[in-house]
Amino acid sequence: MSKQERAAGHFSINESLLFEEGSPGRRAFDLSPLDVPLKQMGDLMDPELLRGEIDGMPELSEVDVIRHFTRLSTWNYHIDLGLYPLGSCTMKYNPKINERVARLEGFAFAHPYLPAQMIQGALEVQKTLEDCLAEISGMDAITLQPAAGAHGELTGILMVRAYHESRGNPRRSILIPDSAHGTNPASAAIAGYVVESVPSNKRGTIDIGALQKIVNHEVAAIMITNPNTLGIFESEIAEITELLHRQGALVYMDGANLNALMGMTRPGDFGIDVLHINLHKTFTTPHGGGGPGAGPVAVKKVLEPFLPYPVIESKTDGTYSFNYDRPHSIGRIKAYNGQFGMHVRALCYILANGAEGLKEVSEVAVLNANYIRSKLKSAYALAYDSASLHEVVFSDRLQARKDVHVWDIAKRLMDYGFHPPTVSFPLIVPGAIMIEPTESESRQELDAFVQAMLAIDTEAEQNPEIVKSAPHTTRVGRIDEAAAARKPILRWRAG
Ligand SMILES: *Cc1c(COP(=O)(O)O)cnc(C)c1O
Repeated sequence: MSKQERAAGHFSINESLLFEEGSPGRRAFDLSPLDVPLKQMGDLMDPELLRGEIDGMPELSEVDVIRHFTRLSTWNYHIDLGLYPLGSCTMKYNPKINERVARLEGFAFAHPYLPAQMIQGALEVQKTLEDCLAEISGMDAITLQPAAGAHGELTGILMVRAYHESRGNPRRSILIPDSAHGTNPASAAIAGYVVESVPSNKRGTIDIGALQKIVNHEVAAIMITNPNTLGIFESEIAEITELLHRQGALVYMDGANLNALMGMTRPGDFGIDVLHINLHKTFTTPHGGGGPGAGPVAVKKVLEPFLPYPVIESKTDGTYSFNYDRPHSIGRIKAYNGQFGMHVRALCYILANGAEGLKEVSEVAVLNANYIRSKLKSAYALAYDSASLHEVVFSDRLQARKDVHVWDIAKRLMDYGFHPPTVSFPLIVPGAIMIEPTESESRQELDAFVQAMLAIDTEAEQNPEIVKSAPHTTRVGRIDEAAAARKPILRWRAG
C-alpha cells in the first residue's frame, strides 16, 4: 500500500490486526530502575488470584499503540464528522468552548471529596445550573445526581413511590403510552410497579377515552413524553394531567429531549410533577463514548422532600453548602454529586445561548425537522399526518413493496456518508425511520442528507439489490446482528 493510500485512510480490514504484529521485547514504557526492594506479586496477593502471562499477547511500542487506536478512531462516524440524525436520541454538535471550560483546572482537578468550603465555585456552577433548568422546565427543584436519562427515570419514580408511601399506600401501577421509550417501563418495573400500556389514537397521541378507563386509585403515575417519540405534541396534556391528579396520581414526564420546548412552553406549566432532562441530548454534552451522561430530575414542591441527598443550598451570605438533613429523601443515587464535568458543559451551553438563544434553538430544531419532512414526504410514507415538532417519523411502507426495508435503507445511508437515523422505533410504527436533524445542522448538510435519502428511494425502485446488500464502502459489511447480540465476542484472543 502506498503512503498516499495510507494517508487517505485506505487500509484493508486486516490492518485492524496490525497491532498483533509487535515483536517480543518491544515496550511502550520506559521505567527507571527500582530503588526499593523488589517484592514478588505473590508476597502481596494470593498467587491463585494472579494471572500469568497472557499467551500470545502482542508486545508493542508506544508508536504501535497510538497508531492502532488512532487508526481505529478514524473508522468511526461521529458528530464532528457529519449529521447524526438519530431521532429521540438528539445528537447535536458538542460546542468546543464547553470542553475548554470543563478543562479549567479548578473544575477538572477538584477532588470529589473536597469539603464544601473548598469548592464554592463548583457548587455555584451546580446551583446555577439547577436554577436554569428549573426556569427552563417550570419546575421548583432539581437534583443533578442521576448519571443518565434512564437513571433519572428511576430516581423520579422512586420519588413518586416515596410520595405515595408517605401518604400510606405506594399504589400499584404506572401507566405508559405504547409510543414510549423502552427505558420507561424498565424504570417503572425496577421501582416495583406494574406497567400498564396506554394505546395511541390515529393522530399518534394518547387515546384519552382508553386512558379514562384505566385510571384509578391504584395508579401511582403516568409516564408521558411530550412531544412524544413520534415528534407530536400531546395537545390534550392539560386534560391528561387533570385526569390523573383527580385520582391522586402524579404525572411523570420523560423530558430526555426538550429540543422543541425551550422558551415555548414549560412542563411545569402544563401540570407535570416530575421530569428528567438529558444534558447529553438537549444541552450538548457528549453522548456515549464521548463522555458520561447526565440526567437531572426536576420536581414540583410536593416531591421536593424526597429528592436524593445531599442537596446544594445557597445561604444568604452568598455561600453554598451540602444539606444532608433530609429525613424523607430517597437517599443517594450516585457517588459524589453527579457527573460534574457535564454540569459545567451544560451550564456553559445555556449561558452562551441565553434565554433568547435557547428559544431560537427550539425554533430551528423544529424548522429543520419540518424541512426534512417536506423534502422527503413524497418518497417516504409519513407515519402520522399530525404536525411534527423536533423530529419526524416515516415508515418504509413504500419501499417495502420492493422488499427494501428500514434496515436496508439505514445500511445504504452509510455508503452515502451518513449515520443512519433511529430505526424500528417507536415500536407502534412498522418499519419506523425516525429523523431528528437538530438545530446544529446547516441547510447544505440537510440537503445532502435529503439527496441521499431520495437516491436510496430511487435505487429501491430501480436496483433494490444494491440497497439490500449495503453497506458497500464501510470497513465491515453487513454483520449478523442477531449473532452479534447473542454471541458477542468481547475479548481479544491470540490468533
Ligand atoms: C434517550 C432517551 C431516554 C434514555 O436516556 P439515557 O440517557 O440513554 O438513559 C429516555 N427517554 C427518551 C425519550 C429518550 O430519548
